[in-house]
Amino acid sequence: MKATTVQGQGIDLLQDIITSWKSRLRGPVLAPGDAGYEDSRTVWNAMIDRRPAMVVRCLGNADVIECVRFAREHDLLLCIKCGGHNIAGLAVADGAIMLDLSLMRGVWVDPDRRVVHAQAGCLLGEVDRETQVHGLATVLGFISLTGITGLTLGGGIGYLTRRWGWTADNVVGMDVVTAEGRLVRASSDENADLFWGLRGGGGNFGVVTGIDYMLHGVGPEIVGGAVAWPASEAPGVLELYRTLAEQAPHELTLVAFVRPAPAAPWLPKEWHGRPIVGFLACYTGNLDEGEKAVAPIKSFGKPIGDILMPRTYVQMQSLLDATQPKGRRYYWKSEYLPRIEPALCEKIIEHAARMPSTYCAVTLFQMGGALNQLDDSRSPVGNRDAEHVLIINASWEQPDDDAVNMEWARRAWSDMRQFSTGGTYINFLCEDEGAERVQAALGAALPRLAQIKARWDPHNVFRTNRNIKPTSAA
Ligand SMILES: Cc1cc2nc3c(=O)[nH]c(=O)nc-3n(C[C@H](O)[C@H](O)[C@H](O)COP(=O)(O)OP(=O)(O)OC[C@H]3O[C@@H](n4cnc5c(N)ncnc54)[C@H](O)[C@@H]3O)c2cc1C
Repeated sequence: MKATTVQGQGIDLLQDIITSWKSRLRGPVLAPGDAGYEDSRTVWNAMIDRRPAMVVRCLGNADVIECVRFAREHDLLLCIKCGGHNIAGLAVADGAIMLDLSLMRGVWVDPDRRVVHAQAGCLLGEVDRETQVHGLATVLGFISLTGITGLTLGGGIGYLTRRWGWTADNVVGMDVVTAEGRLVRASSDENADLFWGLRGGGGNFGVVTGIDYMLHGVGPEIVGGAVAWPASEAPGVLELYRTLAEQAPHELTLVAFVRPAPAAPWLPKEWHGRPIVGFLACYTGNLDEGEKAVAPIKSFGKPIGDILMPRTYVQMQSLLDATQPKGRRYYWKSEYLPRIEPALCEKIIEHAARMPSTYCAVTLFQMGGALNQLDDSRSPVGNRDAEHVLIINASWEQPDDDAVNMEWARRAWSDMRQFSTGGTYINFLCEDEGAERVQAALGAALPRLAQIKARWDPHNVFRTNRNIKPTSAA
């Protein structure tokens, strides 16, 4: 019999065992050199360059079950990829069996029950597209190409957060393949501890194969879009963001950014690459009210571009997609903020003036609203004191520029950290951010998460994530 080495794990698996395992799968198994392997192992952030031993493009629950059982039986490392958007590259690990769920993308909407069931490989724009047929939506993120599962398991923030909380607050059930290779349901009625842990604790407890979200009436038309001014207007624009955000109704979400202008068709060519300050706004209630709510933004100063207008919600959800393409190098630092201090705005302007690449940005996303009003014990995501999230986003193309870009982000962050609530978003943490930052993100929930881990994954089968070590209940 021929022996095959699963790279990096020091395990020789007889070819016959692998052949027998493959025969039990419906989806393709890709090894290095196979067509599609490179595409599958590559994630959004080009800083991450890892090579799984094999990629399984799962086609359903049965494939996932076979893979988890196979990995356990042969003590193989598993990693799980949904959208591959995680900036730390948690979806991919050297030498692992990678479960690539990106072929599992079915979406079923039940408009009467106001619930959508989405398979775990969906990108968020695909879910919005189907739910919007019925004028419904759930809380998802700001970029339509992000995977729903990684986003939901870490919390999830978007234009609807101020109305209905974290994405995780809007989950009503999940289908999960456990470390034992069993398919179970997690909801408030079934396996409630697992359900709690999954809504913020990441991929620590099992492989999620499908998610049910509650839906709300949204759109299809909303008032949304962007306005930009020369960066010299930044003091006034950031002050406008601060004052509008303080009075904004839950239907309105604001975003402010300072960055070199992207080569977007709505911005004049002569401005591309030059420093600008901008606003994004999205009002998801009554259209007339929306027009009134965004009027102070549209009438401010002399914009160089203005596409803030009635448009479809689906369009709004993909407005930022082109600014964050797969394959660039990315490094982020982020913090939750309790309020916008004028002194913070000064620091944003100061550090934005030193951006080393035309793809860098400093962005403020408004949160708050319903998020602050829901109970802290509802899920491990917590951080219900967050009113805004600050993201210092370094982005560039060449590996030779890594140091200068990362250094810029780190400096800006260490200078602005003083304005933080002390909390941060687990889904925005980079590869070099460790236990202290996970503590800042999950805080008081960690001991309970460790007990849930001990019950559902005592041998730490699922460890290519923000890993929670299993501990027994006291
Ligand atoms: C351009 C960009 C924009 C973003 N915008 C937002 C935003 O608006 N709002 C927001 O909240 N976040 C946002 N994020 C952060 C995003 O939530 C995280 O990057 C998230 O991890 C992405 O999910 P994914 O499925 O693409 O992740 P992947 O990279 O595929 O996986 C990330 C982690 O999730 C685990 N995981 C994935 N699928 C499963 C599964 N089926 N079962 C168990 N574990 C699984 C993996 O093991 C891994 O640990 C953004 C990220 C990017 C890159």
